[in-house]
Amino acid sequence: MHVPLFSLDKQLSEIGQELDAAVLKILQSGKYIGGLEVNAFEKSFAECLHVKHVIGCNSGTDALMLALRALDIGPGDEVITSSFSFFATAEAISNVGAKPIFVDIDPENYLLDLNLLKEAITSSTKAILPVHLFGSPIDMTKLLSFAKENGLKVIEDCAQAVGSVWEGQPVGSIGDIGCFSFFPTKNLGAAGDGGAVATNDVELANRVRELAIHGMPKRYLHTDFGYNSRLDAIQAAILNVKLPSLPKWIKKRQQIAERYCHLLEDLPGIQLPLTIQKDENINSWNQFVIRFTSCSKKEEIVANRFNDKFKEIYNNLPDSSARDWLQDSLQKLGVGTIIYYPIPIHLQPAYKKYNYEVNSLPNTENICSEVLSLPIFPELNLEEQEYVVNSIKNLLE
Ligand SMILES: *Cc1c(COP(=O)(O)O)cnc(C)c1O
Repeated sequence: MHVPLFSLDKQLSEIGQELDAAVLKILQSGKYIGGLEVNAFEKSFAECLHVKHVIGCNSGTDALMLALRALDIGPGDEVITSSFSFFATAEAISNVGAKPIFVDIDPENYLLDLNLLKEAITSSTKAILPVHLFGSPIDMTKLLSFAKENGLKVIEDCAQAVGSVWEGQPVGSIGDIGCFSFFPTKNLGAAGDGGAVATNDVELANRVRELAIHGMPKRYLHTDFGYNSRLDAIQAAILNVKLPSLPKWIKKRQQIAERYCHLLEDLPGIQLPLTIQKDENINSWNQFVIRFTSCSKKEEIVANRFNDKFKEIYNNLPDSSARDWLQDSLQKLGVGTIIYYPIPIHLQPAYKKYNYEVNSLPNTENICSEVLSLPIFPELNLEEQEYVVNSIKNLLE
């Protein structure tokens, strides 16, 4: 049996024809930039998020840059964020000329540790950029009240959290600006790159819209240096077909996550993700991430196969041989997994100039050496999931 980490095959057999028709319609219209499909998507996505404004753009990374620029964050400014995320979170801060200030994560939920925010603030701090990582919503109530007290803006990185909710409010609608990605493996995936910015603030919305089109509020009047960052008409047409299925897909992801938790319960060496108990908080489970630290076989694994994949780069990173062994062994059994993320952002070569030392963010570094993402997508069936679980159990017995 082969269980991929992610697959669109079954989704395409269900809605492929509808997608084909939507794309063909755009092709035949001869109108490829902007237009009805883009406007319709922005409107329906805004309704789905309960926000006043949604602006489509070229990617989740661009959404973050546009949000930062719209808030006038740039050279000399600092933005507090997490080092346990996809690189783009921090890259966007750097690309607008500001400095990311990395704060360690809470080892329980892998999200920014809100208790560490206070000591990260300086006179240059302008904003906090929390990441709802893997679909797990961060405590926005606490985060917002801290931001208000300290006069900071809040930009939510919701790239992995389309469909997540905090205390009844969709993520991305709670802070000043929410940033979304429609990369194909996200909860709402386009057939290529795509992204969106969400806000309730009309001025911010206008500013984002202008920046996304060359700083151009009126045709050929340029009041700023912006970007060419639009959501393609073809991508919008695809998203319009898919959006109505989103609630159903999120439910499926939740069922799969609950089933994993149930089936993997009490397995020695495996740490399961936190599951949210309250109805008003929804984890949209873009990823199902376990931690594997050690088991009775640990010594044998280390002796036989010391396969720390990034040891050449950082020989001081925590030992990841047990996790790497589990990943390789599952691969041999036909189970696809992935490591989100093997190297924390603060230790990436691109951030060398800040001289972050190994062990400066111990929770982030340890967790990077232990995490493994298991297959999760709405169409993953019971048989496939049981195969994943039994493969893990057999390896650990
Ligand atoms: C995917 C992702 C992004 C970037 O989105 P793109 O659409 O690929 O540019 C940003 N942040 C996080 C947390 C992501 O997972």
